[in-house]
Amino acid sequence: MVKPFIPQLVYVEPGALDYPLGKELVTKFEDMGVEVRETTSHNQIRNLPGDTDFQRYRIAKSTLVIGVRKTLKFDTSKPSAEYAIPFVTGCMGHCHYCYLQTTMGSKPYIRTYVNLDDIFEAAENYMKERAPDPTRFEASCTSDVVGVDHLTHTLKKAIEFFGQTEYGKLRFVTKFAHVDHLLDAKHNGRTRFRFSMNDDYIIKTFEPGTSRQNERIEAAGKVAEAGYPLGFIIAPIYLHDGWKQGYKEMFEKLESELSNTAKKDLTFEMIQHRFTKPAKRVIEKNYPMTKLELDESKRKWKWGRYGIGKYVYTDEEQEDIKDTLGSYISTFFPQAKIEYFT
Ligand code: SF4
Repeated sequence: MVKPFIPQLVYVEPGALDYPLGKELVTKFEDMGVEVRETTSHNQIRNLPGDTDFQRYRIAKSTLVIGVRKTLKFDTSKPSAEYAIPFVTGCMGHCHYCYLQTTMGSKPYIRTYVNLDDIFEAAENYMKERAPDPTRFEASCTSDVVGVDHLTHTLKKAIEFFGQTEYGKLRFVTKFAHVDHLLDAKHNGRTRFRFSMNDDYIIKTFEPGTSRQNERIEAAGKVAEAGYPLGFIIAPIYLHDGWKQGYKEMFEKLESELSNTAKKDLTFEMIQHRFTKPAKRVIEKNYPMTKLELDESKRKWKWGRYGIGKYVYTDEEQEDIKDTLGSYISTFFPQAKIEYFT
């Protein structure tokens, strides 16, 4: 079982101490005996302990920076939402294929923002622009926000903020099962709580540092009982020997563990495994022993964002994935909605 995250080292940016949450977090970590260092800006965090890049990468992933979010212009977040809402960046998990390895580059530490009211105000303005159409905000574009929330309760505040809005909806996805503090949040049905789910072999082989499959399923059950609309992102869908059986067992377990309440309003998103050449280089550097299949010659090349091509499964394999997983979903969860396959 993966224990709830506790940072080995905390940095605090001076501006963060002007906010009650900033002060509260510093006191909390000092009381826990975690070393707290001051920094003028997160960009100044250069001398993390460790002799090699490999060691520094690992230490950075257990370092937390308490900071202030300056950019209040939100990125778009297709296909799952209109906007990405920034609460945290970085993650303590060690998934070999994590997209943050390329997007966060040299700053793999976790950074949590304490100026929540500014972020909520910006969200309010985005909602006004689109009203009366609903506006969906995705909170996990730059982190696994649940992984750190038992310490900060930022997400809990966000859930309650969106709970009382007329047009706002919040969504996020997690690979962590530490959800107990979120169960009594006044969500008002306006937050879709999603779990990233995969077959057991894939989680065990490629997702160290995250909650195991059975823990995620158990947490999903609790969340649904607390009345949250529930969803699963099956990602990355990865082909390996026995994948059809692995995914079948996953759906069987989900079906037997979830109550009828959970099944009533359930969504699935499906994302196939893909990689880019730069991502492959970073993965091989950070996880040199990985068993991840990254052979370009076995994949189909596809234009990606920013002109960087990505390698996806061949058309035939994609059809096989859609048919196989689609049939499992319609067998085990006939009422569920498949939002997209990409
Ligand atoms: S849990 Fe998500 S954000 Fe964290 S390392 Fe794994 S893939 Fe990346």
